[in-house]
Amino acid sequence: MAEKFLIQPDLEFIKDIRALGGESLKKCFQCATCSVACPIAPDNKPFPRKEMIAASWGLKDKLVSSTDIWLCHNCGDCSSQCPRGASPGDVMAALRGKAIEHYAVPQSVAKAVNDTKMLPFLAILPAIVFLAVGLGLKVFGIHWLNFSPELTAEGQIAHGNFFAHWLVDLIFIPLSIWAVAIFALALKRFIADIHKNALADGTTTKEKIEIKPFLMSIGRVIPNILKHKKFSQCGENNNRATPHMMVLFSFIALAFVTGFFFIYLYGLGIHGPYSQLNPVKILANIAGIALIIGGVMLFKQRYEKVGEISTYKDWYLLGIVIGLGVTGMLAQFTRLAGFEFLTYLIYFIHLMFVFHLFAFLPFSKLAHLVYRTVAMAYNDYSERDVKKI
Ligand code: SF4
Ligand code: SF4
Repeated sequence: MAEKFLIQPDLEFIKDIRALGGESLKKCFQCATCSVACPIAPDNKPFPRKEMIAASWGLKDKLVSSTDIWLCHNCGDCSSQCPRGASPGDVMAALRGKAIEHYAVPQSVAKAVNDTKMLPFLAILPAIVFLAVGLGLKVFGIHWLNFSPELTAEGQIAHGNFFAHWLVDLIFIPLSIWAVAIFALALKRFIADIHKNALADGTTTKEKIEIKPFLMSIGRVIPNILKHKKFSQCGENNNRATPHMMVLFSFIALAFVTGFFFIYLYGLGIHGPYSQLNPVKILANIAGIALIIGGVMLFKQRYEKVGEISTYKDWYLLGIVIGLGVTGMLAQFTRLAGFEFLTYLIYFIHLMFVFHLFAFLPFSKLAHLVYRTVAMAYNDYSERDVKKI
């Protein structure tokens, strides 16, 4: 039998959920149409009706440590069928935003990343960091910026001759470690909490989480995530699956490209610019184009979707995705066209977008990639009764 536990209502939490897109939360009269309409919810304790009650009672602890808010894929079938217009899909999205904010530390950074008023400061922060590190090194006679960059032996412009690659790596390698460390700390708490929550709810019979079977669950859910199987079950928004897949695969491909060229540069000492016919370069270009197209399609779908609330978190993420793709491709085209000033400028702006991606990944909506994977794996591990796909 499920254990009972006491939770304190959090009025501030209700206010936050309403501000994050769940303003119609209180319209819910608990008819449960949404849980029936949801094509993804499990038969055993389905969502999102129970989340609607918990959210309107301000049960923050219970909600941020729920796997169900992550099993929801925001397809909106529940919202379109809700007789009260309570937008349960938007409430679930708002709950995910609060969960990311809850687990990512330092929380001051999480609040800043999700605060519109902080955007101007965050936008110039990468430039400040680059200049501070670069100028600090200049004091020691180490130069990183060359206002009259030389062309390569083949007569080509090279971004690295203007703005030292090693300075870029000096900043981005610690930033990547920062992102991994924050995720590691957050996931340690998240996994412990979702397990405690599942035991209390009676959705698992496993007493503790064993590492090996849990890793095997991760291995089982990853192919489904890559194939976007859950997305394709959605009725309302299943057209989101294709652009979402394009963006996801672009990021995976670009991570591979970055790793490959890192080995090229530091392992083999081969400096760029690399041939446009290099297979890795071709992959980078395909991924860059797919990132822009996927990002623009997602932007258009959000913009045109009248019944769904889009918040600052959604636009921020789409801005990063499209900004990364556009500046990455333009930095290359302007370099090939020989527009020196323009290519260096665009390259610098591109680095600012990359900085945002690494530094703020664990605090932004993009973190859903990690939390949803872990929640789906936990669901598999806990052997909860789920709808088979
Ligand atoms: S959100 Fe809408 S459909 Fe779901 S229980 Fe409330 S009123 Fe019913
Ligand atoms: S948004 Fe979609 S997946 Fe999420 S609860 Fe509603 S119907 Fe289910």
